[in-house]
Amino acid sequence: MTDLHRLSIRELAEGLSQAKFSSRELTEHYLQRIAKIDSQVKSYVTVTPEQALAEADAADAALKAGNATALTGIPLAHKDIFCTKGIKTTAGSKILDNFISPYDATVVEKTKAAGLVTLGKVNMDEFAMGSTSESSYVGATSNPWALDHVPGGSSGGSAAAVAADLAPFATGTDTGGSIRQPASFCGLTGLKPTYGRVSRFGIIAYASSLDQAGPMARSAEDCAYLMNVIAGHDAKDSTSVKKEVDDYVANLSNTSLKGLRIGIPKQYFNVVGLDADVKARVKESLKKLEEMGATLVEIDLNMTEAYVPTYYLIAPAEASSNLSRYDGVRYGHRCENPADLMDLYKRSRSEGFGPEVQRRILIGTYALSAGYYDAYYVKAQKVRRLIQQDFLKAFENVDVIAAPSAPTTAYKIGANLSPTEMYLGDIYTLAVNLAGLPAINAPVGFDKDSLPVGLQLIGNYWSESQLLSIVHQYQQNTDWHTKRAAIAEENA
Ligand code: GLN
Repeated sequence: MTDLHRLSIRELAEGLSQAKFSSRELTEHYLQRIAKIDSQVKSYVTVTPEQALAEADAADAALKAGNATALTGIPLAHKDIFCTKGIKTTAGSKILDNFISPYDATVVEKTKAAGLVTLGKVNMDEFAMGSTSESSYVGATSNPWALDHVPGGSSGGSAAAVAADLAPFATGTDTGGSIRQPASFCGLTGLKPTYGRVSRFGIIAYASSLDQAGPMARSAEDCAYLMNVIAGHDAKDSTSVKKEVDDYVANLSNTSLKGLRIGIPKQYFNVVGLDADVKARVKESLKKLEEMGATLVEIDLNMTEAYVPTYYLIAPAEASSNLSRYDGVRYGHRCENPADLMDLYKRSRSEGFGPEVQRRILIGTYALSAGYYDAYYVKAQKVRRLIQQDFLKAFENVDVIAAPSAPTTAYKIGANLSPTEMYLGDIYTLAVNLAGLPAINAPVGFDKDSLPVGLQLIGNYWSESQLLSIVHQYQQNTDWHTKRAAIAEENA
């Protein structure tokens, strides 16, 4: 079989359980594709063929012995922010370029326990700070739809790998949009779960009150399979929530679109910088959902202007604290011949962190310092609460809220946006993390340059099943999610 990479997760699971192909064949197929194409896409930081084939053989044995799970033997890629025992975990940073974790992140532990096969670790913006994946110390990843364009970020490697058919699905993390925006730029489906739904244990921390892991895949159905594996309480993460986990796959058709109230925030569609094609495609997708039975309701989200400043205060503040552990003493990059301890700290951190990470440490440290703490950090926390309340008020009248995932489609590598321009591009995704809500991106068409456009649906707390179900039904009535990027087509 040569087209194994065209199969959905359900088809892969069926094929494996019916012994139409083995996990070894499937894994070798993906490893061959990576060897052939990834020099153009540059989605993987580390490929782990030996471990993958050993895991594939174990999966084949489990399948034969009849003790396989639904996903045993299916390969995946992990964002290089998830700690993997024995395999390098860099978080896209030079400061961790030689870091090998002594343990697995809970998400990784769970994918292993489910029999999934790890193909390798995929690229990302340094410490997940960015929206292009260009800030990675190993260099930029390409967007499979147009290789001179960015795949988005920070989970750009995850998105590019799936969009180029170099992994059937992948994990990502989303602190302010890092699953949804690259999914949007690469024509994929990506779910950012409710804060606390997926364990953060073993995920290199960026902003701990915002970080959340989730699936990135072609379809809502594929995402649902991965959610079934990674969701759930974890005693090792005190912010993970003890709440029963849905069967996301079984629930895929459970949400009725008849009478579903979709809120359209007035403020979102008047944002300066919203691309005309993005706006048009998103509106068309909402029209489609309306035809399928949903009701569109105009709503107000009055705090929209506060999203970017609030997030870009809280996230750097938490980052500056989280990143203080990289001091050149315990692990990570250490400078040569330090004169004294201060010199060791200063040079190790200056050499190890890239410019965007240093900028955020400076902003965050400033906002947390005595004398400024109340004026900046405490104020931002108060505004954060208002943003959350704004959403809760909206959810009294609507079931979900629709928005673009990003104001534009993917831009060129090296476009060199100023930090402010880059931050403004996150306008549609940040508030979801500030409020701790779940949200999903679904591909809904293309702009004039044939680059993918994404629709974002934001749900109330714990509505992952509902979001996946709405997108699943949309995808059964449309074919945007089946379109393949040029490089995947050329190597079909
Ligand atoms: N682009 C945002 C930032 O740079 C979000 C990144 C993320 O979700 N990890 O902080």
